[in-house]
This record gives sequence, C-alpha cells and structure tokens, in this order.
Amino acid sequence: MAWYSVYEVGHGVCERFDDVPLAEVGTRVPRVFIAGNVGHTHSAKAGQGMNVSMQDGFNLGGKLAHVLLRCSSESLLATYSAERKAIGEDIIRFDQWWAAVMAKSPQEFDHPSDFEDAYLQITEFAQVFMAQYAPSMIVAEPEFQILATGFPIGKRFKSAVAPRVVDANVIHIGHESKANDRWCLFVFADSAQAGEASPTAALAEWLAHSPKSPVHTTTPPTADENGWFNIKVIHQQAQTDVALSRVPATYMPRVGRFGLINYDGVFAAAPGSDIFEQRSIDRGGAIFLVRPGQYVANILPLTATAELAEVARRFTLTQW
Ligand SMILES: Cc1cc2nc3c(=O)[nH]c(=O)nc-3n(C[C@H](O)[C@H](O)[C@H](O)COP(=O)(O)OP(=O)(O)OC[C@H]3O[C@@H](n4cnc5c(N)ncnc54)[C@H](O)[C@@H]3O)c2cc1C
Repeated sequence: MAWYSVYEVGHGVCERFDDVPLAEVGTRVPRVFIAGNVGHTHSAKAGQGMNVSMQDGFNLGGKLAHVLLRCSSESLLATYSAERKAIGEDIIRFDQWWAAVMAKSPQEFDHPSDFEDAYLQITEFAQVFMAQYAPSMIVAEPEFQILATGFPIGKRFKSAVAPRVVDANVIHIGHESKANDRWCLFVFADSAQAGEASPTAALAEWLAHSPKSPVHTTTPPTADENGWFNIKVIHQQAQTDVALSRVPATYMPRVGRFGLINYDGVFAAAPGSDIFEQRSIDRGGAIFLVRPGQYVANILPLTATAELAEVARRFTLTQW
C-alpha cells in the first residue's frame, strides 16, 4: 500500500453559534455567527455533516435577508443559534444511538424488525424530517396541532400531492414553499364548495380587506399582493368540482408588472391520495404558516384571524 490515512472522528458542539453569551441572550443583537463544522462535528455516518452545515447557512441566510430588507426585526437573529445548536446536539445524539445499533449482534435485538425500524428512522433523519425547532417567535406552541397531526409544528413540511385546479397537474404542494424569502400561508379549506359562504371564504375576505390582515400590514408596498405571504388554498373536492370562477380573489392574486391573475395557488384533493387523509388534516379546515425554509411555524383554525395577525406581528415589521 503506497498511502493510507486515518480519519479520527471527533464529536462536539459549540456552546453558541453567535457572539451573545447565554446570560445576555435577548439583551443584545448578535453580530457574529458561525455555521458548519466549526459549530458541530460528528462522524460521517448518514452523510450529514455537509448537509447540516448547508442547512445552517440556509437558516441564517434567510433570517439575515429578512432583517436587512427591513421585513423582520433584528431580534429574529437570536433564533439562529437557538435553533441550529439544538440540531447540532440532535445529530450527535442520533449518531451515538445509530453507532450502538450498528454494533449490536443480531441476538441482542428484542425483535427481528428492530433493525429495519432503525433503518427507517435513519432515512427520516437524513431527509431532515426528524429535526424539530422549539417554540420561539417563529415557531408556535402546538396549541392547535390537533388540526393536522401529520404536520408537526417545528418540523419540515412533509409534502403530499394535490392536483392544481387550473391545469389538473398533480404536484407536490411542499414544492410551493420555495427556497426564497417568502412565507407560505396554506389554507386547507373546510368542506364547503369554493365560493359558498364558509370559514374559507370569510378568511379570504378578512385577508383581503381587514386593516389587521398581515397581507396588508407586512407586504412591502412595492411587492405583489402575495410578495410576502405566498397564499395557497387546498379544497377537499376533486379537481373537476372546484370552479375557479368562484374562488375568492385572495387565493388568486394579481401579480407582476401587468397585474395578471395567478391561478397557480388553487388546489384540490387527489382521488386515492387525498392530502387531508394522508396528513390527518381536520375536515373543518386549518391555516398553516410555513417558513421560507419549509418548516411549519404554526397551525391555526380558519377562524383564528386575530391570532394570525398577532403571529405575523411577532416576526414581521409593519410596512406602513
Ligand atoms: C471522510 C469524510 C466523509 C464525509 N462524508 C460526508 C457525506 O457523505 N455527506 C455530508 O453531508 N458530509 C460529509 N462529510 C462532512 C463534510 O465534509 C463537512 O461537514 C463539511 O465539509 C463542513 O463544511 P464547512 O465549510 O463547515 O467546513 P470545512 O469544509 O472544513 O471548511 C473549512 C475551511 O476553512 C479552512 N480554514 C481553517 N482554518 C483556517 C484559517 N485559520 N484561515 C483560513 N482558512 C482556514 C480549511 O482549510 C477549510 O477549507 C464527510 C467528512 C469526512 C471527513
């Protein structure tokens, strides 16, 4: 052998991912941040080092952009260290657990399926569906989690397919939450038909016309109607049973230079693959707030307009 090298695994998580000591958190804004291996180092198992490092950057980049664009207050920056340090600790705990599983002999497992179950868990982990952010100014307490148990608050939005009404394309609605600076507001409609008097229609009215609506208070004046909150509605009916002409304008905003109607945000349920069933969404409907990084920030009843206004106020600066 002409050459060999030994890779020594080091495990460690930095005390803070910013320059604010624990005792001073909340008293001043962080000015310096660290991301990547300098914050957390662990074994190469599950191939997570670079992935988690890039997610650090994504978490921080989005927050910095919002603060620099004056869409969010500087206090948002404190959530970076809190969220990503916890993820660094999680990955090391997971790594130790996984190492112990791998080191067991077959006789040591209680049940023959234990090893298979562990493999399924590692898949969830590697796809970042196990990471869960704790409650903060951008993650709610799970007060209304019961409205959609398949979308844990603080975890990544676990996509499912739904037909887009305008062109019948069956697409993953998780992909609607793009890696840009916009929040997604998914409105899972109640069982009424589009256009009928219903909580879904009343919410559209409130979003469009109430002076307290976050669409008005937080969208920069120069942006499109959906420039800050990318609003989508998902109906319980089949695609052919949703009449676009009856869908409230809030769910089909005017966008771009020519103010063209954007029909892309209206979805239906896919027969045999109904997102309401797949993700245990209450048939009375629910509002989902999804962060730019695809994490579920909050779930609220369709009628909780005051709460929605308050939640938005916590992480956005009023634009007027
Ligand atoms: C064997 C192995 C296999 C891996 N496999 C995977 C995998 O399959 N999937 C995965 O996601 N991750 C994997 N990783 C982890 C991944 O490589 C790291 O997590 C990732 O590179 C971390 O990126 P980083 O930018 O934080 O740090 P680094 O990539 O370490 O970059 C830090 C840079 O800073 C430079 N530097 C250090 N000190 C100074 C200084 N004083 N002045 C100037 N420059 C300095 C260093 O030279 C280096 O270029 C693996 C790692 C190893 C070792």
